[in-house]
Amino acid sequence: MKAMFDRVWHVVAPERTRVFLWLVVHQAIMTNMERQRRHLSDTGVCQVCRGGEESILHVLRDCPAMDGIWRRIVPARRRQSFFEAPLLSWVYENLGKDDEMGGYSWATVFAMSLWWGWKWRCWNVFGKQGTCRDRVQFLKDRAREASTAHEKVRIQGRRGERVERQIAWVPPESGWWKMNTDGASRGNPGLATAGGVLRGANGEWICGFALNIGICSAPLAELWGVYYGLLMAWERRVQRLVLEVDSEIVVGFLNAGINDSHPLSFIVRLCYGFLSRDWLVRVTDVYREANRVAVELANHAFSLPLGFFSYSSPPAEISVVLTDDALGSSRARFVRR
Ligand SMILES: [Zn+2]
Repeated sequence: MKAMFDRVWHVVAPERTRVFLWLVVHQAIMTNMERQRRHLSDTGVCQVCRGGEESILHVLRDCPAMDGIWRRIVPARRRQSFFEAPLLSWVYENLGKDDEMGGYSWATVFAMSLWWGWKWRCWNVFGKQGTCRDRVQFLKDRAREASTAHEKVRIQGRRGERVERQIAWVPPESGWWKMNTDGASRGNPGLATAGGVLRGANGEWICGFALNIGICSAPLAELWGVYYGLLMAWERRVQRLVLEVDSEIVVGFLNAGINDSHPLSFIVRLCYGFLSRDWLVRVTDVYREANRVAVELANHAFSLPLGFFSYSSPPAEISVVLTDDALGSSRARFVRR
């Protein structure tokens, strides 16, 4: 699986596409078969074609909705193995093929097709109309776009330039909720706090917290933030959660795991306890500029007594940044790469 994750995280595609692939290889995307298994639905049949069980492979490859697209993209000599492989080797093999396809590689168009295939299906199920006429052309254009963007970044990286990017908090897609958390410490170890905020698809405040921890290390403070964030979202009965943290290390622990002998493994395991429950959670890292409300809540916690404070309405100290986020205002950041 290590080699699989390498391919998933290195494929030339937008970050959200990689996150989706990561969910696919964890077999964590919510199909009808999965809903039936969890007793959330009484049928596992595909609601698009009604011609079979809606497994992950059905959704992404075998349903007539995707089959027709694949037959136009996959070169004839590869079709047989393409349509016969089981899920994990199918993903692994295709992400490993870097054949030049005309401005993009096979792995890129494959990744983009999985992501868009899934997106189209969700739109279909939720009654939203797709507007694109030629889906194959559309996928090729997206693949070319992703490759061009990647190439540009690579060239800039070689010159050591910094590029200015506007970073903003982005509300979750409809049907999802977003939890932003942060940990702060004055010294490592030192006095430490954490904070988090749960918001809906319109950027509306659902709940938040501030935690004054006392003395601990910086990554532990981040992880306490994650733990209480997950706990709070779970107690609110959120079904689909995007968890954003501005620490690459912490997101790495949550996505890739942590060695049992690591001093932080106890809290990572506590977080896993939530991640493995019956809901969908996507963990991603964001720039600090996109995590400002959580940052402010963590700062605010320094002024509170030790312990956990839950807010059903936003505390006055953070109202400015909260409004900023809701309005979609961004901050410039210079990123090397
Ligand atoms: Zn189907």
